[in-house]
Amino acid sequence: MEADHSGETADYIPELASADPDRLAVAICTEDGRLYSQGDSDVAFSIQSISKPFVYALALADRGFDAVMEKVSVEPSGDAFNEISFEAGTGRPLNPMINAGAIAAHTLAGPSGATPQERTSRIIDGLSAFAGRRLTVDSAVYESEIATAYRNRALANMLRANEIIEGEPLDAVTGYTRQCSLLVTVDDLALMAATLANRGVNPLTGAPVVPAEVVRQVLSVMATCGMYDGAGHWMTNVGIPAKSGVAGGVIGALPGQVGIATFSPRLDRHGNSVRGVDLFRRFTSEMGLHLMEVPPPGPSVVRGRRIVGTGDDAVQVVSLQGRIRFAGAERVLRELEDDPLTAKRVAISLARVATIGPVGRRMLLEALRRLTLDGHDVYLIDPDGVLPDPDPGDGGRVTVVAGHDDIVR
Ligand code: GLN
Repeated sequence: MEADHSGETADYIPELASADPDRLAVAICTEDGRLYSQGDSDVAFSIQSISKPFVYALALADRGFDAVMEKVSVEPSGDAFNEISFEAGTGRPLNPMINAGAIAAHTLAGPSGATPQERTSRIIDGLSAFAGRRLTVDSAVYESEIATAYRNRALANMLRANEIIEGEPLDAVTGYTRQCSLLVTVDDLALMAATLANRGVNPLTGAPVVPAEVVRQVLSVMATCGMYDGAGHWMTNVGIPAKSGVAGGVIGALPGQVGIATFSPRLDRHGNSVRGVDLFRRFTSEMGLHLMEVPPPGPSVVRGRRIVGTGDDAVQVVSLQGRIRFAGAERVLRELEDDPLTAKRVAISLARVATIGPVGRRMLLEALRRLTLDGHDVYLIDPDGVLPDPDPGDGGRVTVVAGHDDIVR
């Protein structure tokens, strides 16, 4: 890996062209905030396009989905990051990961009517909350990029002409370029990515940065558009929602598991870090991190049934286990229908259930309701309260107990 010297540092931003091309760093942050890093993890570099998903997240949180969608779509463009491309008819940028969409998203952070300075402050504060520490702008990188940002200025002018952004286009480019010049280390980026992996809550500081619905949207866009015209190969080979930046950073956020960041300045023709892409490939193959890799089926959600007690006291107990989402709950309903319970008194035991998702909850309550309507006395054994306030509604009745001893007197 260290021996791979292919690719070039970004040369259109002079300050980046002069970066030490042989730097290499990687950091992984778990969903509960434990950070592991290796190599040049204390070297700070500019965040560049890795800021885009985070600023998109802030825009969604601040303005709502409809207002943002009206200005920036979510279709992979298959174009290079700096392509001058807009959707026919609407004039919207195709997605917030290419520069056109990112400049538009920049103007949507903060409340409507915010001044350019207020907008940029909101973005620096927001990205700092993702990183769990105060981030600062590298003014040398900023000056170096803004001096020659003719292409981004062209994009901003087009956005203004298309009525996608309001105000002075140059303000949008200035703010966007500042956002791209924020200094980060791989440790910062891994924590920022872990915040996305952790439903928008910073796992180290515990701060809720953006709502979970926003994270779902951002990760979906990262998965389909994060690696530009390399996005399809990225998703099939690596399979982690990701974003790259021209200073050489790459982040990946694997929902519910980890945030990962790499840094190595030499770039491939898409503007993605050569060694970063290679490292991510290895994470997938050696650590099984591909999003679409489904673990082998675990034991059935329905652990078994048994009769506890005798005579009038007898209770037929159905024990469930694991995490119950749609497919697990479907299994419960199906088994109860295919092989109906026979005792008068029945209990569903959740003692070994870890979590129940919202859909699993609705379906389990429906199972309890049907059992009541079929004439059973229905108990729910729920010592850990994994199904709080179980009200099956509509004729359903259930008595919650901590164990079957509470039913069999
Ligand atoms: N600031 C850079 C630009 O706008 C960001 C590009 C990138 O990192 N891909 O060109």
